[in-house]
Amino acid sequence: MKVTEHIQQASDTLISFEILPPLKGKGIQSLYDHLDPLMEFKPSFINVTYHRSEHSFKKRADGSFEKVVVRKRPGTESICAAIMNKYNVDTVPHLICGGFSVSETEDALINLNYLGIDNVLVLRGDAAKNETAFEAEPGGHKYALDLLKQVTNLNSGIYLEEDLKNTTKTKFCIGVAGYPEKHFEAPNMESDLKHLKAKVDAGADYIITQMFFDNAKYFAFVNACREIGITVPIIPGLKPIYTKKQLTILPKTFHIDLPTPLTEAVNACKSDLDVEKIGAEWLLEQSKELKKAGVPVLHFYTLGRPLLVAGVVKQLC
Ligand code: FAD
Repeated sequence: MKVTEHIQQASDTLISFEILPPLKGKGIQSLYDHLDPLMEFKPSFINVTYHRSEHSFKKRADGSFEKVVVRKRPGTESICAAIMNKYNVDTVPHLICGGFSVSETEDALINLNYLGIDNVLVLRGDAAKNETAFEAEPGGHKYALDLLKQVTNLNSGIYLEEDLKNTTKTKFCIGVAGYPEKHFEAPNMESDLKHLKAKVDAGADYIITQMFFDNAKYFAFVNACREIGITVPIIPGLKPIYTKKQLTILPKTFHIDLPTPLTEAVNACKSDLDVEKIGAEWLLEQSKELKKAGVPVLHFYTLGRPLLVAGVVKQLC
């Protein structure tokens, strides 16, 4: 079922989770162990992130270096199918532009369609580790908007090979990313919102936001979107803080601010166990306020702490 159908049929705020594929070598049981404690909350859908391959240099016996390509977290599409099969829940694979040609993307979409997956979250992806700025693959997409147009084309039965006859139309429900605190490359919020609107005008069915720790930023973002005519659902993305190190890692990685009362409370903690308690309380308060405001879905980034998220969601239900 499509994310938008879940939202249309709901009488209350829904719950969804986001997970990462296991690190290569871990096996799928590690993923099930992560998800098991979350399934009692009957999530409407589960997002599975996509991780592009990385280049590294391996030293040969003769001292020269060999360039090797490694994908540390492979398997997004098959994980989605495995989750649907095991838990009977809808999944949302993330699709990125980085590292893919348009024909590889088309093959991935065809695979997802064969697997009965109704949703995709289309993203540009970040720059590869060895790049200073995002570079599209030769013959690949530069922006999420271009990838989105490929999906909407396929939804209209338009494949890359134009001479194909009587093609099947896919029916993907398409999500895109939005940034309450602005995407870090955008020169200003107006420009970022203009590009977000272009994604919606081109067929995006809903928006999921980058994590934020100050609900006022989400509410202001939603207002700004509505003012420029974006009417699709805007799903807040939420993540717990659970270590002191995250006070610097989260702003550096995700280009977000952490509110002073949160950073002061975390800094006063004697151990990371204490930080977990603060993080859980903060997440609960954020979630309660958003639910009260009638957000369509609370989307939790569960990475590393499914039990912490489960504890918070339990208090919301
Ligand atoms: P875009 O919408 O293409 O925007 C990128 C930048 O370009 C923005 O600054 C935008 O304002 C600007 N822009 C857009 N169009 C134009 C144009 N025509 N001209 C000039 N500028 C333009 N990354 C992963 O690798 N895997 C994941 O699974 C993943 N999941 C994510 C989930 C969520 C909910 C979010 C919020 C992010 C996720 N990311 C993921 C990170 C994402 O890939 C990065 O934030 C990336 O840098 C931008 O992706 P985007 O889809 O927002 O890009």
